[in-house]
Amino acid sequence: MNTPRNRLFEPAREGVPLTPARNGRRPKTDVSDPDDKTNILLVDDRADKLMALQAVLDDLDQNVIVAKSGKEALRHLLQKEFAVILLDVSMPGMDGFETAQLIRTRPATEHTPIIFVTSMNQSENHIARGYQLGAVDYILTPIVPQVLRSKVSVFVELYKRTEQIKRQGERLRQLEEAALKRQLTDAVDKLEAETKRNRFFNLSLDMLAIADFDGYMLQLNPTWEKTLGFPEDEFKSRPGPDFVHAEDRPAMIDQMNRLREGNSATYFEGRYRCKDGSFRWLGWTAAPFPAERLIYIFARDITQRKTNEQKIESLNAQLKQRVQELTDINSELEAFSYSISHDLRAPLRSMQGFADALLEEQFDRLDDSGKEYARRIVNSAKYMDALLNDLLDYSRLSRAELERVPVDLQREMTELLVQLDSDIQDKRAEVKLDLTLTRVLAHPSTVRQILANLVGNALKFSHPERTPAVSIRTEPCQRAVRIWVEDNGIGIAQEHCDRIFGLFERLHSTQAYPGTGIGLALVRKGAERMGGHAGVESEPERGSRFWIELPAA
Ligand code: ADP
Repeated sequence: MNTPRNRLFEPAREGVPLTPARNGRRPKTDVSDPDDKTNILLVDDRADKLMALQAVLDDLDQNVIVAKSGKEALRHLLQKEFAVILLDVSMPGMDGFETAQLIRTRPATEHTPIIFVTSMNQSENHIARGYQLGAVDYILTPIVPQVLRSKVSVFVELYKRTEQIKRQGERLRQLEEAALKRQLTDAVDKLEAETKRNRFFNLSLDMLAIADFDGYMLQLNPTWEKTLGFPEDEFKSRPGPDFVHAEDRPAMIDQMNRLREGNSATYFEGRYRCKDGSFRWLGWTAAPFPAERLIYIFARDITQRKTNEQKIESLNAQLKQRVQELTDINSELEAFSYSISHDLRAPLRSMQGFADALLEEQFDRLDDSGKEYARRIVNSAKYMDALLNDLLDYSRLSRAELERVPVDLQREMTELLVQLDSDIQDKRAEVKLDLTLTRVLAHPSTVRQILANLVGNALKFSHPERTPAVSIRTEPCQRAVRIWVEDNGIGIAQEHCDRIFGLFERLHSTQAYPGTGIGLALVRKGAERMGGHAGVESEPERGSRFWIELPAA
């Protein structure tokens, strides 16, 4: 007997096939291809019914998954999404309604369409209960295959559409998100660059600004206010030249005109007014951008430098004046010492003459001490005469015009050695002359005097335990000739080497080494007056190396 429960299908009508599987294909139960196939869950405790349903749905070409109990159905639902569930109402154990109830309690499956399969004779009480439990439709057995297929395909289609919409929505959301992300990144990048520029602009210790071609500031950094005291708005309210010192304004306007005409970056300096009325010196570097009609300005406070420069200028002027005053005093002193030396010579000569006469004519009438006193007067007068002579030489050297002509050193030295011959013989000195360069531009008698002093000293300050050896040689020194006078005498301590060129500077008593202390002063003065220099290298006990440098002829 074919009870409704046993008989699942209506007898075949209008050529609807009842074969279980088309083309002998097994229905797929694994994970469906998400792109085009959906999952359909068939739940029935009877294998034959499942097979029959499967065969009908095979035409839809979807993944048909079967479950032989409510429990198995729930297991599938945990793993997969389904487009529709065909649920047999009458099943042993957990029946269709109980299974549906559990399906609805899970959020993931609460909206999955459920079609109850129930027999015609049970339909009345089943339908009402089924709808209560969230059934979307009913299929009554015996099943009409077209009806089953069309009902299921509606849900499959619905599911596919929903999925498509979901996917499109997701794609759209992703695109929007990517676009948004891009916009955000751009905005952040821009902001970062802007922040960096602003930071640079704001933190700069120099004054940075952008002005228009009319001289109005459009943008400026806080250093302007810090340096000059005006708030930003006040700077912007008037053209730049208004703030410039009246004396510097024409130059500033001239610079601006040149910038407007398209001249490249320029540097200029000028005084700029401060809020408190004082002025500060600014060094400006400005570059024009004619296309934008803008001038980019970089200004630095150079007040300190300017003040220092002014101080240096005024100190220089003071120094110049002092030098002039000293030169004047010096000339006066030189003139004075000349006239004194000159005027002292006459009384000295008479003192010397009378003392000589006393010794010669009154010799017999003088007792021993009288004779000694007269001798001392003669010696002192001689010394004073030498001193006056040297002083006069020195004064003359300081005051006279020294015309420089080519001088032959070889000739001068040969003559000098002849003059000094008796000294050389007395001292049994060895004198070596080695002049490779012989022509200098100098004042002949002054050169002679200088060389006489140097060679004279070399003989005078000889070492008591050595045969005096004096060497006179020349060497080139840029455009000058350096003349060396070297001895093996007593030498000079390093700390005295410069001092001895001063007037009256002596390192020994006149008893030990006679002299006036004027010779080396004369050497240096003479060398300098002829455009040269003089100096010495020496060591005590090791001899001295005096040198003078004179322009080569
Ligand atoms: P003076 O020779 O009349 O003493 P100078 O001005 O020529 O004066 O020299 C100054 C001093 O320099 C000398 O008194 C002497 O102490 C020192 N001096 C000069 N020439 C030499 C030398 N060749 N060796 C050592 N000392 C020297």
